Amino acid sequence: MTASPDQATPILAVQDLTKRFGPVQAVRGVSFQVWAGQTFGIVGESGSGKSTTARLLLRLIEPTSGEVQFQGGDLLALAARAMREQRRHLQMVFQDPMGSLNPRMTVGELIAEPMLVHGIGTAVTRRQRAQALLDEVGLPASALTRFAHEFSGGQRQRIAIARALATEPALVVADEPVSALDVSVQAQVLNLLLDLKDRHGTTMVFISHDLRVIEFMCDQVAVMYLGEMVEAGPKAQVFAAPQHPYTRALFDSMPGRGAAAPHLQGEIPSPSAVPSGCAFRTRCPQAHARCASEAPASRSVGAGHVAACHLLDAAP
Ligand code: SF4
Repeated sequence: MTASPDQATPILAVQDLTKRFGPVQAVRGVSFQVWAGQTFGIVGESGSGKSTTARLLLRLIEPTSGEVQFQGGDLLALAARAMREQRRHLQMVFQDPMGSLNPRMTVGELIAEPMLVHGIGTAVTRRQRAQALLDEVGLPASALTRFAHEFSGGQRQRIAIARALATEPALVVADEPVSALDVSVQAQVLNLLLDLKDRHGTTMVFISHDLRVIEFMCDQVAVMYLGEMVEAGPKAQVFAAPQHPYTRALFDSMPGRGAAAPHLQGEIPSPSAVPSGCAFRTRCPQAHARCASEAPASRSVGAGHVAACHLLDAAP
């Protein structure tokens, strides 16, 4: 992807990131860049590799190959201890807050824990900051001494967000942070995330299967299919003029958008049996002979906008 005109160095630069689990090719040659203060959205169906990509960025699982440069340093070259220290600057918000919140800890302990782990502050200042963060995420101070299970799903996600922000990370990776919540509280949590991001100047990688959520949250958007990034670019451009047949099919299945092309048919293939050539060819309404034999290269289709499809060969 081409550089943003106003910033020379991205805060996160991912190059050819790949993850195999035995025969399963979960993530294949993913490359992208994220600039400070922006939200980079990754969208795709279940099985597209977007959640695996999120975990690879933070080395919650180790990549098979590739590069992850964070704030100019090579994250994958760090030894375990240096990586633990670096996690202060890289936090994650998961889909299911209960999975990431220890049920035996009070909310105050949960929010203070990342500060304790990274040696930030004293017991008194950590508690004060936990209280301030609770206030920021819209929960009362009385929550400090209660347990996560006493709260609703939306409130628990607020607690998880407060915990993720406790170390003032430069980058937050949010993996489907509202998809387990009732529709009625999704917008509240998304607005909270946007507000906190602006207030703290946090950069975000935001994973979702829901294009409406991506449209609401993100500056840049990347579309993943079967472990690969098939299209990426500024949100306004990708939403106004999607170039890849898969992106178009995803958009056509969005409520409120006219379906100019056929809807997405069939199931995403298994990542242990990736089709030859273009991985999307088994579902692509425009597949032709070349698509089975040759994988399309990613090419520029506009300023900062790239897509990988043989049909774009003739594009200017
Ligand atoms: Fe469809 Fe072929 Fe383009 Fe793949 S390369 S998206 S199969 S037209």
